[in-house]
Amino acid sequence: MVTGTAVVVGGGLAGLAAAAGLAQHGFQVTVLESRGRLGGRAGSFVDPTTGQMVDACQHVSMGCCTNLAHFLRTVGVDHLLAPQPKLYFVTPDRRASVFKADPWPAPLHLGRALMGAHYLTPLDKLRVGYGLVRMLAEHPDADPPLLPWLRAHRQNDRTIERFWAIVLTSALNETVDRVGLKYARKVFRDGFVRHRDGFTVHVPTVPLGRLYGDELCAWFAAHNVEVRENAGVKRLIVGEPPPPSPLPEGKGEKELSAHVASNPAGSPTGSPFPDRRGDGGGGIRGIELRDGSTLSADWYVLAVPFDRVADLLPEDLVAREPYFGNVKNLTASPITSVHLWFDRATMKLPHAVLIDCLGQWVFDRGEVAPGEFYLQVVVSAARDLKGLGRDEIQRRIVEELGRVFPPVSAAKLLRAKVVTEHTATFSAVPGIDQWRPVQASPIANLALAGDWTATGWPATMEGAVRSGYLAAEAILTRAGQSAKLVQPDLGA
Ligand SMILES: Cc1cc2nc3c(=O)[nH]c(=O)nc-3n(C[C@H](O)[C@H](O)[C@H](O)COP(=O)(O)OP(=O)(O)OC[C@H]3O[C@@H](n4cnc5c(N)ncnc54)[C@H](O)[C@@H]3O)c2cc1C
Repeated sequence: MVTGTAVVVGGGLAGLAAAAGLAQHGFQVTVLESRGRLGGRAGSFVDPTTGQMVDACQHVSMGCCTNLAHFLRTVGVDHLLAPQPKLYFVTPDRRASVFKADPWPAPLHLGRALMGAHYLTPLDKLRVGYGLVRMLAEHPDADPPLLPWLRAHRQNDRTIERFWAIVLTSALNETVDRVGLKYARKVFRDGFVRHRDGFTVHVPTVPLGRLYGDELCAWFAAHNVEVRENAGVKRLIVGEPPPPSPLPEGKGEKELSAHVASNPAGSPTGSPFPDRRGDGGGGIRGIELRDGSTLSADWYVLAVPFDRVADLLPEDLVAREPYFGNVKNLTASPITSVHLWFDRATMKLPHAVLIDCLGQWVFDRGEVAPGEFYLQVVVSAARDLKGLGRDEIQRRIVEELGRVFPPVSAAKLLRAKVVTEHTATFSAVPGIDQWRPVQASPIANLALAGDWTATGWPATMEGAVRSGYLAAEAILTRAGQSAKLVQPDLGA
């Protein structure tokens, strides 16, 4: 086993997965997170009026998210998610279709559920079936604009709005007129066709802050990972390191790593840089934090959102090295979540996918405090809400819910909160993968991680964990130890 020190910048899922992967292979890891909590975008805040921990936005996983499942299992929090064997699709006329698998092998397991969708005509269902077959027959890397592709494959307004958009807008956080075929195909293939369990939605039973909270920190503490919150990084210090210093005679691996860790950034660590070819201007020598302190290690993982990367690297490096510069071509898509606390229970379903509505998903989080019943409505790709103002968004959502679930109209709204994440995820536009960097950077001791790096996945918790595992794999390979951290796909 190789040992060494690693600093991970960013305590979102990508950074945490990279830290876990490296720690399990003997690395002494420090995670630097600028906020006062872990989980990044998959996080919670404490509501100042009630002290309750509230998710910035409901997050769900699916059965096909094998790396997220592996990570949660590894750190011991997988029991905090509940699988939903049934999905409920509800229209404004209050009719619901239940989407559940039959005991038949994939891809037949969901055939009857699709046939039972009350919001599609029999002809629509034939159109959808035809579109799915043609989509799955496409090359996995083909990525033309999706909407013209759908039109060219016999999809009409109704199938586009009530089938393709319903699934894809939530899964990709983007509208069907903006996405490419590649990730649309992936959603249907991995989520609905490849394996019976792929479509099962897994919902956390606790706030995300608790999911990525105490148990996770305890696991890290037990695995030699130091987690520093409120530790914002100002910049990565790039420079040509001196040749590797020989291992002092008789020193064990642990002692070397301690020696390396104690070196300040200004005095290079003597850490191993086994492959400096393609090095974009020198190895990373250290990190300067916002409080002015510095830190150095053998290896670095930069696991921040894509719009933060350039700020942390030297300007000239980003300008001359397309690997870093290309990241600027990624664009973001917003998500709005509407949090509503009523004085009584208002829904009989645990969740609902809303058809022909402004809200796309509504989750019933139950009685979260005595006499407080919490619903959360999610609007993905929420550009249309821009400029409406929080009160107007809340009014429209509450009115809509009242039409779909009449008890909402009778209930008293105790509190509400509208949260918009303007840069929620990268937008999976056609050809997006040309801008997503692989995790192994041209700087020999630096790997990138983040849902926006090249994972083959859209921006999801699964993509983030994959990127973290891939970043750790890249470092392990460069350190001379080949290890497979990325988990196989379901049904692979
Ligand atoms: C509203 C919303 C809803 C979503 N819903 C779902 C869902 O239902 N299912 C799903 O799978 N995915 C969902 N996602 C996507 C999912 O949250 C992300 O894909 C995933 O969490 C990204 O993880 P990450 O580690 O790549 O990035 P992040 O979570 O953004 O982590 C990056 C971390 O870096 C830290 N950081 C930034 N700059 C610095 C610095 N200078 N120094 C130190 N630290 C720094 C940040 O504070 C952050 O913690 C949703 C996202 C949003 C925003």
